Amino acid sequence: SVPLSFFGGIGGASKLGVLVKGSNYLEALAKVDTVVFDKTGTLTNGSFNVVAVHAENDVDPDELLAFAAHAESYSDHPIAVSVKQAYSGQIDQARISEVREEAGRGVAAIVDEREVLVGNDKLMAAHGASFTDCELVGTILHVAIDGAYAGHIVIADVVKPDAAETIERLHAAGVRKTVMLTGDRAEVAQAVTEELGIDEFHAQLLPADKVEQVERLLAAQTDGANLAFVGDGINDAPVLTRADVGIAMGAMGSDAAIEAADVVLMDDKPSNISRAIRLARRTMRIVW
Ligand code: ADP
Ligand code: MG
Repeated sequence: SVPLSFFGGIGGASKLGVLVKGSNYLEALAKVDTVVFDKTGTLTNGSFNVVAVHAENDVDPDELLAFAAHAESYSDHPIAVSVKQAYSGQIDQARISEVREEAGRGVAAIVDEREVLVGNDKLMAAHGASFTDCELVGTILHVAIDGAYAGHIVIADVVKPDAAETIERLHAAGVRKTVMLTGDRAEVAQAVTEELGIDEFHAQLLPADKVEQVERLLAAQTDGANLAFVGDGINDAPVLTRADVGIAMGAMGSDAAIEAADVVLMDDKPSNISRAIRLARRTMRIVW
């Protein structure tokens, strides 16, 4: 039988806006010693602002943004949303005839009968489009039109206000290791991990690479210690399932992520993770 205090712990967690899908996950949460975070939408707001548009090769900057916004028009990735927000014109669906989103890379679309690519280095390389390397700080969206480089859009995201305090409290609660995984550039990943005091980061990862990193970290775990993965759900379902405890940001997260997760945060605040782990540890001590 399940001791009553388990339900007390689950009830206490739900008052924090943390839904734990069963008493076994409360126990699993109490034994977490490694916390792995996704970056965009999890540690950062996931609402990017376009900070610069650099058009090249005789492309007009407004035209560059228009092509990018049309190519992104079917995507609900935080990056796509920001590009559409920065574009002041109307999206004309008749201009778009084909769209393919490539997870962890970007989008490929036919706009005005031209092949438009909007995404990172990996997307450009996968389609054989040449691009200019860029030293700027920020998340860079390269744009290519008919295989020719058209320029880039620089976007910036900000860390959530309670992200740094979350990392500090996790370490103070005895969490041995914090890790951030991202599909974004190493420069951006390094700046975020330094700002937040995260122990380790891995950048430029495709969704499958994130699973591989989690498996590597799981193999290095000490006996009886658990690994938690926290994600916002965009392409995160496989890692959420693979971790000992999968934690999804519920308010922004996708249904697939909420389904795959063991713990759901109702308000997308990372600080509720440190609160939930502390509560789980207190509850387990009462039980034992
Ligand atoms: P994170 O790992 O930080 O959560 P994602 O895996 O969602 O980020 O995306 C990784 C990278 O893939 C982004 O930094 C961006 O370069 C590129 N990308 C993903 N989706 C899009 C999109 N819709 N448009 C442009 N670029 C994208
Ligand atoms: Mg993400």
